[in-house]
This record gives sequence, structure tokens and C-alpha cells, in this order.
Amino acid sequence: TDPLLKVEGLSVRFGTEGGTVHAVSDVDLSVWSGEIVAIVGESGSGKTVTAMSILRLLPKTATVTCDTLSFRGEDLRAMSARQLRSVRGGPVGVIFQDPMTALNPVMTVGDQIAEAVVLHQSTRDKRAARARAVDLLRLVGVPDAEQRVRQYPHEFSGGMRQRAMIAMAIANDPDLIIADEPTTALDVTIQAQVLAPLKKAQAETGAATILITHDLGVVAEMADRVVVMYAGRIAETAGVRELFARPRHPYTMGLLASLPRMDTDVDQLEPIPGNPPNLADPPAGCPFHPRCPIARDRCRTDRPPLVPVAKDHYSACHFHEELAGVDAQTLYGQR
Ligand code: SF4
Repeated sequence: TDPLLKVEGLSVRFGTEGGTVHAVSDVDLSVWSGEIVAIVGESGSGKTVTAMSILRLLPKTATVTCDTLSFRGEDLRAMSARQLRSVRGGPVGVIFQDPMTALNPVMTVGDQIAEAVVLHQSTRDKRAARARAVDLLRLVGVPDAEQRVRQYPHEFSGGMRQRAMIAMAIANDPDLIIADEPTTALDVTIQAQVLAPLKKAQAETGAATILITHDLGVVAEMADRVVVMYAGRIAETAGVRELFARPRHPYTMGLLASLPRMDTDVDQLEPIPGNPPNLADPPAGCPFHPRCPIARDRCRTDRPPLVPVAKDHYSACHFHEELAGVDAQTLYGQR
């Protein structure tokens, strides 16, 4: 079957005073109906830019090029701004990082959800749209939904606002949900309260979901498939179990090694030493070589292509074969 969303050869550049920033380079991303794909990476890895470029939600300073950008077989690049707006909030629901910037502060939450329903559906029946708003808030676990619809975003807590955003994103029964770090701004207990409704909303609508996150814990809990990004490129991609059990890229292994472990007293995250590269002046060869524990001469000159290493599993590392069966903790010297 054809993928619901197909992105091929995506590159995004930003013109800045410091030069051209190579935010995303040569990214391919296919998403099939109903699956949850997590894009994971540190900030500046290009994960948000990749997702936002799908609906052309990037600022004007961005130059986007790609070979294919299709959704349900239609070329998104050929669509007018107006057509794209009707895709967004309709067949594609978007959940932004910060609900306060996405929600209208002077409109009640219920009116905003109802407006989204009226905007995209044939119904002009405001009462039906209102009732739908209550149902949606209830679905995502907002208590006292009948009262809550009349409140303004500032009367909602952070977690509740995220739920309202999820309700809006699924208001028109989308085929695809794009969720950008829906939990970053929230503390750990609230995170769980947001992931659960997102999971429920996804199950209810059957929508494919692109989940952008820096948190492998979230990935393990939510995703079917994982795309690991580093310095604007895909470092590794595989099914979630395969990636956690048999990682084949040193960057992924570094992320796994830095996860808090149950069998030690260490509950402190040990990040991979070093910093992500400056994308206005990306390193030659493999972009991970300045931080990689097994980098060799070749890594400093030749860029590793993304190649298949197992079924539905790809890695962009010259030495992926050597990494088969290697424990992530061991590679990083059990820091
Ligand atoms: Fe490390 Fe070289 Fe593999 Fe890059 S190509 S991840 S530097 S071993």
C-alpha cells in the first residue's frame, strides 16, 4: 500500500546573519495509516523543522526543497495557502509545543473547538459544533467538560490546555496528527496525563501520528517506529523494539546509554559528551564524528549514507556492522 504521507529528499535552509543554516538535509519520511512514528533528537536536530515543513508552517526565512511531498496521494507543494489551511485542522491535526501561542486567549476553549468543527465540516450548526466540543473535551479527559467549554485558555492549567489542543487537533477526525513535543513544557506527572489522552485520541481516530520528542521514554511508550535525527539528518530508523534492542548507530546508542536505568542508583541523565554541531558550518564527513566514541579517519571525510542493516532498519554509520550486538552502555564506557 502507498504511504499516507510521503516525504523524499527534504532539505531546509535558513538564511541568518551567521550564514546559511543547514537545518534539515536529505530527509526521507513515509508514514502509513494508523501508525505512530516518533522523530527523536536533541534540540537543533531538525526534528521540529522536518515536521513543520510538511504543512509549510515554517517562517519565510526558510528555503524548503524536496523531491516528493505528498499526503493521501496529493502533492502538498501544489496547494495554495488557502488549500493548506483547510488541510490543517481538517485531515491533518497539529498539536504545537506551546498551547498558549496556538490558542486564542480571548475566545473560550469551547468556541475555539466549535469554530474548528464548523470551519472544516459541512455543518453550520453551531449547537451541534458546541456539543461536539464538549464530547471532545470529555474524550481527552477534561473533567466537567460542560462547564469547561465556557472557560478561557488562561483558566486552564498547562496540562488541561494541552488536552484542549489535542481536542482541537482531532476535532475533524484527522488521518494524520502532528504532535510537537506535547510534553516538554510540562513536569513529569503532567506528562503522563497528556500522553494518555493523546494515545486515546489516536486510538479513537485511528489517525497516523508523527510525534516529535527528545524523550526516549515517551518514544518507548507511544511509538511504533522511530526516526532518530542528528544535525538535520536521519542517523537511524527502525521499529521501536528493534531500535531499543539492537541499535546500530553510536548516536542512538548514546541516547540509550543516557536513559536512567532501573538497576543502578543513578537516576541522573548522562548526556553524550560534547555539543551538537553548528549547522551554519556543519562538519565534513559524518556529522556525529566530533562526539563519536568510535570515530576514525574515514568518518572525518566521508559522509555515511543511510543504509539497510536489518529488516526495516537503517543506519547512517560506516561501522554499523561492528555495532551489531554491542551494548550501548559498553560503547559509552559505562559512564
Ligand atoms: Fe561514528 Fe563514524 Fe559511525 Fe559517524 S560514521 S557514527 S563518526 S563511527
